[in-house]
Amino acid sequence: MKIAQDKVVTIHYTLKDATGEQLESSFQGEPMAYLHGHHNLIPGLEKALQEKEAGAKLEVSLPPEDAYGERDDRLVETVPKEMFGEGVEFEVGMQFHAESQDGHPYVVSVTAIEDAHVQVDGNHPFAGATLNFEVEVMDVRDATEEELSHGHVHGPGGHQH
Ligand code: ZN
Repeated sequence: MKIAQDKVVTIHYTLKDATGEQLESSFQGEPMAYLHGHHNLIPGLEKALQEKEAGAKLEVSLPPEDAYGERDDRLVETVPKEMFGEGVEFEVGMQFHAESQDGHPYVVSVTAIEDAHVQVDGNHPFAGATLNFEVEVMDVRDATEEELSHGHVHGPGGHQH
């Protein structure tokens, strides 16, 4: 079965940055399952997997525009500590869930700490980076009606609920 719109695809992958340093790998753990064609995967990777079958191995190098986009300096903000509530012990690298003015959820990372303020960065940690993926396709199957209505995969490697 070939990877196409609405297929459930299970992959193992290793992600390296432009210098060859490993950022993530699934090979030591569980593979990842995703629903193809539903923006669950970065666009360049989904495009590269199109039409591939179980057993396929591929290496994909993605510039920022096909991965997590360019960095946007407007997403770096200095905000009062009290915005996060009482008694939070801040550390550089901590992450918080935030919501944009139009209600879109995103994650911000603490990048600096001052007396009464913290600097937070809403860019994805891999924004601006060229990403090199090594991917092995483990399985391709049809999605269930329920998975299609939810827009994500259920069961191993997907959502549990
Ligand atoms: Zn679901």
